[in-house]
Amino acid sequence: MTAEQVRRAVEAVTDPELRRPIGELDMVREIRVDDGIARVAIVLTIVGCPAANRIESDVRRAAASVPDVDDVDVSVGVMTPDERKALTEKLRAGRPARQMPFGPDSLTRVILVSSGKGGVGKSTVTANLAVALAERGLAVGLVDADVHGFSIPGLLGIPAGTQPTRIDDLMLPPVAHGVKTISIGMFLRDGESVVAWRGPMLHRTVQQFLTDVFFGDLDVLLIDMPPGTGDIAISIGQLLPHAEVLVVTTPQAAASEVAIRSGLVARQTGQRVIGIVENMAAFTLPDGTVVDLFGSGGGTEVARALSTPAEQIELLASIPLSPALRAGGDAGTPVVLENPSDAAASAIDALAQRIVTKGRGLAGRSLPFAPS
Ligand code: ADP
Repeated sequence: MTAEQVRRAVEAVTDPELRRPIGELDMVREIRVDDGIARVAIVLTIVGCPAANRIESDVRRAAASVPDVDDVDVSVGVMTPDERKALTEKLRAGRPARQMPFGPDSLTRVILVSSGKGGVGKSTVTANLAVALAERGLAVGLVDADVHGFSIPGLLGIPAGTQPTRIDDLMLPPVAHGVKTISIGMFLRDGESVVAWRGPMLHRTVQQFLTDVFFGDLDVLLIDMPPGTGDIAISIGQLLPHAEVLVVTTPQAAASEVAIRSGLVARQTGQRVIGIVENMAAFTLPDGTVVDLFGSGGGTEVARALSTPAEQIELLASIPLSPALRAGGDAGTPVVLENPSDAAASAIDALAQRIVTKGRGLAGRSLPFAPS
């Protein structure tokens, strides 16, 4: 009886990268209990699997939690190539290799975060928005396609040099604060700079992100776009013509003019602008003084300019300048988690809520969000 209980406890341990119980992933081998000692054999996908220590200690803890188990002995092996092949096929769930899972019939909402120019806080907002959505229980993926910055891993505290784990031709994105994250920077060889890549090379890389990275079933995929309307924007426009677009701007008139242009270009590829986010907006000092460093009105102006007679585009959030937001980004500890009462954090949280309630808004498409 005890061995059966140990098996049940061990099989329920989740693989931190694949996000599934290891029993379901066929990683549990022999389980015996001799004189109160549980002997557990598990196999991992690859040698040197980065999650190995975590899985081993979770398995040890799970086995030790079973009554009458006094000690646990865990042995860790590696899957054979055939076992690994069976696993990757199971993970693909019938989808052929090299097929993009985010096509128009997908239940995943794909949201591109764009801006007209750099430095408006697009990546900072995207990283925090992703975490805020994950905190709401959604399965969230984040692609850092900003070739000029690659700031997403740092913003989420993913150590430099972290690579996706490869299981044969499947790549598992690192998970940070509940967000499955992949960055174009993870695909660069030592010393290589993406800025020199030409359009076709960028196109292939972006395509690879979307086909070979195993995100599993996502509710939302956020894509941190490079500022402006360059090669990547065109490639993503072709690959994901049904995507939704969130345009980030500052309150400044000069920023809003270029933001309007990026929204118009996205629309030309068939994408739908779902709303505007104004960042670096006025903040209030403890004595009540309002400081509007970058002026005001930019977000409303972009929303007005992108509205059409058929569709009113809304300003979905106005996020104030915030030292805590900046510091959380520098430290890799998103402010929405570390300091949720900060004014910028609560504005981003409210933005997440609006995006969830807004839904995809396209008739005939089912929404990926289950009512809670
Ligand atoms: P972008 O992705 O648009 O280039 P970043 O997200 O890299 O912009 O942000 C640029 C800089 O501005 C970063 O140093 C970031 O910490 C800071 N920043 C972004 N938004 C805010 C804000 N609301 N308050 C204070 N600093 C911010």
